[in-house]
Amino acid sequence: MRPILVTLLLLGCLAATLAWFRLGHVAARDHKGGTDDMTGERAEMVRVLTAYGITDPRILATMGKVRRHRFIPESFRGSADPYGDHPCPIGHGQTISQPYIVAYMTGRINPQPGEKILEIGTGSGYQAAVLADLGADVYSVEIIPALADHARAVLAAEGFRVNVLAGDGYQGWPEHAPYDAVIVTCAPEQLPRALVDQLKDGGRMILPLGESGFQRLVVLRKSGTAFTQEEDLPVRFVPMVPGE
Ligand code: SAH
Repeated sequence: MRPILVTLLLLGCLAATLAWFRLGHVAARDHKGGTDDMTGERAEMVRVLTAYGITDPRILATMGKVRRHRFIPESFRGSADPYGDHPCPIGHGQTISQPYIVAYMTGRINPQPGEKILEIGTGSGYQAAVLADLGADVYSVEIIPALADHARAVLAAEGFRVNVLAGDGYQGWPEHAPYDAVIVTCAPEQLPRALVDQLKDGGRMILPLGESGFQRLVVLRKSGTAFTQEEDLPVRFVPMVPGE
């Protein structure tokens, strides 16, 4: 009887060990969210952002979490490092802004949970995801319908609830106005008046303003019907094209 018991015990241990290995394997895969999670690349991007002076822990945590590479359409993923500090092509002649600019502009409007934010220029959907991850209620307008469709699909797949409209950002999104903040990620030559009108009293807006190839970020604060404008970093954004 005894040798049989020992054999059974040994077999039991072996089965338990195998099960443990298998569970560990599955858990590791689930935790990484598949083979292309790029957690390490994201951590390195956050180190670079910190070195460049982004210090807000909320923004760093969000940027360390949102899977930027998933927002780049698959056919463009190989063309540039999604976590390098530079813009990346997303098709239709458009780009996803470099991580530093996303972090910087987000910091300047400092979105709070529950605030209503309008983004103009959805592009890949990445900036909208960053705002949504910070707890904002995000409305985003994109003029190229194929990009609006792409952004809607990725945002849903990544678990972000963002409202995306295919339309002309010069009109804003009046149905959901007023907004606590507006962030424009394409460059108009003149301040789009409808966007100022759709800001709440006390609201803030950040936008790259100026001619193609050379613009400055402008931070605008609304007070009653008046507003102030503060010039900030020189930047280079794709132009905000006039709608039909
Ligand atoms: N925020 C984006 C990057 C934006 S690139 C991201 O995180 O990926 C600028 C985007 O603005 C492009 O997709 C471009 O099609 C869009 N755009 C240009 N003119 C526009 C307009 N008048 N209204 C809305 N979107 C516009």
